[in-house]
Amino acid sequence: LAPLPDEAPVGKLRGDTFSRYAGCAKFSQLPLSKRTKDGLKQAQFVKMTDIQRASLPHSLCGRDILGAAKTGSGKTLAFIIPVLEKLHREKWGPLDGVGSIIMSPTRELAGQLFDVLKAVGKYHGFSAGLLIGGRKDIELEKERVNGLNILVCTPGRLKQHMDETPNFDCSQLQVLVLDEADRMLDQGFRKDLDAIIPQLPTHRQTMLFSATQTKSVKDLARLSLKDPEYISVHEEA
Ligand code: ADP
Ligand code: MG
Repeated sequence: LAPLPDEAPVGKLRGDTFSRYAGCAKFSQLPLSKRTKDGLKQAQFVKMTDIQRASLPHSLCGRDILGAAKTGSGKTLAFIIPVLEKLHREKWGPLDGVGSIIMSPTRELAGQLFDVLKAVGKYHGFSAGLLIGGRKDIELEKERVNGLNILVCTPGRLKQHMDETPNFDCSQLQVLVLDEADRMLDQGFRKDLDAIIPQLPTHRQTMLFSATQTKSVKDLARLSLKDPEYISVHEEA
């Protein structure tokens, strides 16, 4: 293995970079920004789980991912890290608007992954918002949503913003994440997703994670992913 740079140069990682990192076991061996490495260290994440080890070398190169691994296998970090790294490499800032949208099936799951994002992303300067409906004040959200860099949301709430928020702008979207895709479809979000995805810029990276690969997950994959890397991990993480 070639010596690993401490931090990948700002700019692009080459498309063949993945093979150099394919055998890595620890986050510290990956070409991550110091900010992300410090966030991981602070949260005491050291060794990668199987789904993280299998997917990060690809997702960090910007590839689309279709990832299948059971609940509890560590799918959250498998997408949060590439989101942070992409925006970091693009030098995303307060005026750049929405750079990433992460969709999750329930308020509770969205809240949990938002907490992981805050912990691991704490040394980055990105703004992030949790848009999940319920009692939260949508009028206030509408004023602020265009200033956020990372949106963590349920499909229903995102659709509501697309329909109702004046000048809602995600035209600069870099990374789309569909988390727990099977559950999103079970929750009845199929219609919202079918309406949302075609409105998003096509020049983006998309990662779709799911515990199971049903026919409807495959349909959603076909709608949202381009030439994805298929990653399926069945053993314990
Ligand atoms: P999934 O989304 O696949 O169900 P999560 O991302 O929610 O799984 O992770 C499940 C649990 O494993 C969480 O408590 C998380 O903190 C922990 N975890 C994830 N990745 C790692 C890791 N690399 N090292 C230690 N614990 C981890
Ligand atoms: Mg999960």
